[in-house]
Amino acid sequence: MPIRHANALLDVPVYPAGRSAPLADRIGRLLSSTGDVIFVQAEAILALEAVATSIARPGVTAVNIVTSPYGAYFGAWLRRAGATVHELVAEPGQPAGMQALRARMDALPAVDVVAAVHAEAANGVLNPLADIAALAKARNALLVIDAVASIGAHPLDVDALGIDIAVIGAQKGLAGPAGVSAVAMSQRAWTHVAATPDFAPSSLSLAEIRRTWLDRGRGALPGMPAPLEFWALEAAIDRVEAEGIDNVIARHQRAAMAARAGLRALGVEPWIADDRAASALVTSAPVPDGIDAQALIDGAARYGVALGAGFGNTEGRLVRLDHTGAKAAFDSVLAAVIGYGAALVTLGMAVDIGPAAKAVATAWVAPRAGD
Ligand SMILES: *Cc1c(COP(=O)(O)O)cnc(C)c1O
Repeated sequence: MPIRHANALLDVPVYPAGRSAPLADRIGRLLSSTGDVIFVQAEAILALEAVATSIARPGVTAVNIVTSPYGAYFGAWLRRAGATVHELVAEPGQPAGMQALRARMDALPAVDVVAAVHAEAANGVLNPLADIAALAKARNALLVIDAVASIGAHPLDVDALGIDIAVIGAQKGLAGPAGVSAVAMSQRAWTHVAATPDFAPSSLSLAEIRRTWLDRGRGALPGMPAPLEFWALEAAIDRVEAEGIDNVIARHQRAAMAARAGLRALGVEPWIADDRAASALVTSAPVPDGIDAQALIDGAARYGVALGAGFGNTEGRLVRLDHTGAKAAFDSVLAAVIGYGAALVTLGMAVDIGPAAKAVATAWVAPRAGD
C-alpha cells in the first residue's frame, strides 16, 4: 500500500556534490590548516582507526602518548598494522609528563610517528601540545593529533604547530553531529601514507579516500554519503562561524574556569590541580574517600544533574562535570557544581553549597584576557 507520510528525518535531500569541498575548506580554516581536509564518513573513532591503519607498517617506530582509552586504542591499531609502538602512559586522568616523553624519545635511535590526544573529554586532561610538537619536530617525526574533542574548546593551529595529521569530529566542542569526521593531512602525511602498503579496497584506507575524492577534484564523495550527517555538519559549522570560533573557545574556557572555581569553593580540589593542564571540555572531580562513585552519580541525578562516570583507569575514582558544546554555558556549569555538592551533602559530607554558587557566578562574569 503506497501510503506515504512525509518525515523530515527520512525525506532528506541529497547533500549536493558541490558542497563538500567548500565544507572541507571551512573546517580547514577552523583548524588553521592549509593541508588537505578529507572526510571519513563515520564517527571519529573510525577516523582514528583509519589514520593508524594507514600510517603503520613494519619498520615504523611510533611513540604513542596514552592519556585515555582513546590513546590506548590508537596504539593497538598501530601495532596491529605492524608498527613498533613505544607507549608513554600517563598517571590516571593526568596529562603526559614532558620529561618522561623526552627521555623515552631520547632512548630511541629513530622516531617516525608521535601520536597524542590534544584534550580529553574522557577525563579532563589537556596535553601540552606545543611541547609535544616541539619534541616531534626535533626528531623529524610525523605528528598525529586526536583533536576530536579539543576543536572548539582549545585554540588549535595545525600549520603553526606542524601537525601532520589532525583528526576531528563535530560532536564535542563544535556541538555537531557524531556520524561524520574530518582529517587534516599535510603533504608529509600523504608521503608517509604512500609509503605504507595499500590495503584498498577498505573504508579505513586514507589512500583510497585520496584517490576517490581528492584526486578526482573533490566532487562527489565516494560511496553513499549520509545526507543527514553532512547537512548537520554544515549547520554546525554555520553556527560555529556565526558565533566565531574564538568565542566558542572562550565560552569553553570560561566554563572550565567557573567549574574549577566552584569546586574549590566547595573545598574540593579538581582532579587535575594545574589549571593549565585541564581541558575545557569536562572538569573531573574526585570521588572522595569513603564515597561510592555510583552513589554520587545517582545522588546528583536525583537533582536532575548528569555527572559523567570516570572510565578506563579512572573508573570509580572521578566524576566528570560536562561543559562541552552546548553545555559550555552558565546554567550547565552552575547545575553541575551544585549537583555534585548537593550529592556530597546527601552522602554525609560537610560541604557548603552557597560559596560554590557564588564562585561559579563570579568566575563567569569576570573579564578574561581577550574579552
Ligand atoms: C569523543 C572522542 C573520540 C571519538 O569518539 P566517538 O566514540 O567516535 O565519538 C576520540 N578521541 C577523543 C579524545 C574523544 O574525546
